[in-house]
Amino acid sequence: MSKVMIIGAGGVGGVVAHKCAQLSHIFTEIVLASRTKNKCDDIAQQIKAKAQTHINTAQVDADNVKELTALLQKEKPSLVINVALPYQDLHIMDACLAANVHYLDTANYEPIDEAKFEYSWQWAYQEKFQQAGLMALLGSGFDPGVTNVYTAYLRKHYLDEIHELDIIDCNAGDHGQPFATNFNPEINIREVTAKGRYWQDGAWIETDPLSVTQGYTFPEGIGDQNIYLMYHEELESLTKHFPEIKRARFWMTFSDNYLKHLEVLQNIGMTGIEPVNHNGTEIVPLQFLKTLLPDPKTLGPLTEGKTCIGCIAKGIKEGKEKIFYIYNICDHQACYKEVNSQAISYTTGVPAMIGAKMMIEKTWLQAGVFNIEQCNPDPFMEDLNAYGLPWKVIELTDTGLHS
Ligand code: NDP
Repeated sequence: MSKVMIIGAGGVGGVVAHKCAQLSHIFTEIVLASRTKNKCDDIAQQIKAKAQTHINTAQVDADNVKELTALLQKEKPSLVINVALPYQDLHIMDACLAANVHYLDTANYEPIDEAKFEYSWQWAYQEKFQQAGLMALLGSGFDPGVTNVYTAYLRKHYLDEIHELDIIDCNAGDHGQPFATNFNPEINIREVTAKGRYWQDGAWIETDPLSVTQGYTFPEGIGDQNIYLMYHEELESLTKHFPEIKRARFWMTFSDNYLKHLEVLQNIGMTGIEPVNHNGTEIVPLQFLKTLLPDPKTLGPLTEGKTCIGCIAKGIKEGKEKIFYIYNICDHQACYKEVNSQAISYTTGVPAMIGAKMMIEKTWLQAGVFNIEQCNPDPFMEDLNAYGLPWKVIELTDTGLHS
């Protein structure tokens, strides 16, 4: 039915390409384009051995709007799935507008020289996309992405109003490496070392990085883990689109080992994003650290254990207070077996494919810039069950959180 261009051939790009290729009746042709073409070729090679879909590769610098526009005009995809880095979002949106192509991403724009992410830059494209009759779907990964859809689904079917929302991202997997991040190290470390922030009664409350923590007991054998309060981008769009939410927080698990290494790296300046002069050459410490750390793609065969990502929503249904927990459990080794990747890239890449499917099948297609929770959650939730990320909703009597 449609040709798509996937931009980015990292951990997530590989999963998106595999999953799109599995649905060759929908994604009839795939172009996998990235800065380093041989990474695209490696992924295409794996896919050709498994699926029928026609897959081509291309080299592109997505920050060069002219170059990307020319590639889009040559290839004529109906949709771009942007799984490069958040720094490229606006450039890719500009090229999509110039070449008349729909747009989807999994992470909101972040300027390269400032560790700050917010939706304002992308929301500002609303009129341009509306006028062009094109859709930009923002945040179609897991978090943001599935967590937004989970919230919309609970609000639609289980609660008349949501008052408290806690999004909890648990990775109970172990890759056996002294220190590694499970998605792009630069983006991951910028996010984790930023100040925490949560929504309370109409205002943002800021906290020192990783200073708010508590234990949480996860379901289905995962058990006790420490969770840390962080700022995450879906809090911004969810509190905008569900204004009745009084408190919204995001939590993530980290092992003691990860935190110990991170503390040392921060103390010695290795996580800095300002260039420093090293023997006459300007280097950005965090980018140099990324060069040294294991490529997240190589963690696939090494990682064992499970992830559990979900939302706890407290609110009212027909006048009575209710609490629901909705979550997915994903097994690192099962993901590797299916698409040569660990569960973090898998849980991001599958929803990116499903969001693209929703657009191509015209289930969600409309002109303008949309966060994923603005679309009907039901068909997306069905597809999560069908394509590898089954979910459960359980009713709780207590959130299980201390405060
Ligand atoms: P990787 O670093 O593994 O891959 C990024 C890819 O983008 C690389 O192939 C890289 O090319 C390519 N790239 C970078 N700059 C450019 C450019 N200027 N032009 C073209 N290609 C470029 O990252 P991940 O796969 O781990 O993450 C991809 C995205 O997914 C990120 O935006 C991340 O924030 C997001 N994400 C979202 C999650 C969610 O749940 N919503 C969870 C995890 C990740 P090269 O190989 O040359 O470096």
